[in-house]
Amino acid sequence: MRELAGLKKIGILGGTFDPIHMGHLLLAQWALEEAQLEAVVFMPTGMPYFKRDQGVLRGELRLRMVELAIQGREEFFASDMEILREGNTYTYETLEAMRERWPEAELTFIEGADCLDSIDRWKNVRRIFQNCTLLAAAREGASMEHLEKRKRELEERYSARIRLMPFPRLEISSTLVRRRAAQGRSIAYLVPEQVRRYIEENRLYQ
Ligand code: NAP
Repeated sequence: MRELAGLKKIGILGGTFDPIHMGHLLLAQWALEEAQLEAVVFMPTGMPYFKRDQGVLRGELRLRMVELAIQGREEFFASDMEILREGNTYTYETLEAMRERWPEAELTFIEGADCLDSIDRWKNVRRIFQNCTLLAAAREGASMEHLEKRKRELEERYSARIRLMPFPRLEISSTLVRRRAAQGRSIAYLVPEQVRRYIEENRLYQ
C-alpha cells in the first residue's frame, strides 16, 4: 500500500466482508465525506476468532471481492495486513501496525454503531482508542440517547475519541447475500456487479 504514504487522514473499515456488499461501500463513502478522509482502507479480517465456527470463506477470496468492489475508486484501498497475520485477528494489533507504518497519519476506524456495545470486550481496547478516532455509523431508528450515553462512557473510561455519523438503515447484510446465493437467487444490486459475477462464476456460496 505504498500509495498511502504521505496521507494525513486515513480511514480503516474493518470487516469480515463475507462478502463485501453495497452497505459497506456506502459506509466507506459517507465516512470519507463525514471525516474528510483522504483514503479508506478496507481491511478484511484474518480468521475472526468470534466467527471461527461459522465457516467463513478463505481470506484471499474475501480480499479479492473487496478489490473487485473498489476497482476504479482512487480513494479506496484494500489491505491484506490482517489476512496475512497468523493467529486471531485483533484490531489493536492492526492499528498499531498501521501507526508504525504511517506515523504521520491520523487514523479513523469506521464501524457500525452496534460496536459501541461490544468494543470494551475487544482485546486491549485501551490500545485501540490510543491509536484512532472511532467513527460509528448510527443507523436511522437506533436510539441516539443510548448511543450518546455509550459514547460518553467510552470517552470517559478510555479517553476515546468517538464520532457518531447518522446513517440510513439499509437492510443489506452479508448473511442475506450468502443466503440468496445459496438459494440460486439473484444478488444483483446487493453487491457490485464485478463481485456478483465473481461469486456466481466461482459458486462461492452454493
Ligand atoms: P462485517 O460484518 O463484515 O461488517 C463490517 C462493518 O460494516 C461493521 O461495522 C458493520 O456494522 C457494518 N455494516 C455491515 N452492513 C451494514 C449496513 N447495511 N449498514 C451499515 N453498516 C453496515 O464485519 P464484522 O465481522 O462485524 O467485523 C467488524 C470489525 O470489528 C472487524 O475489523 C473485526 O476485526 C473487528 N472486531 C475486532 C475484535 C477484537 O479486536 N477483539 C472483536 C470483534 C470485532 P454492524 O456490526 O453494526 O452491522
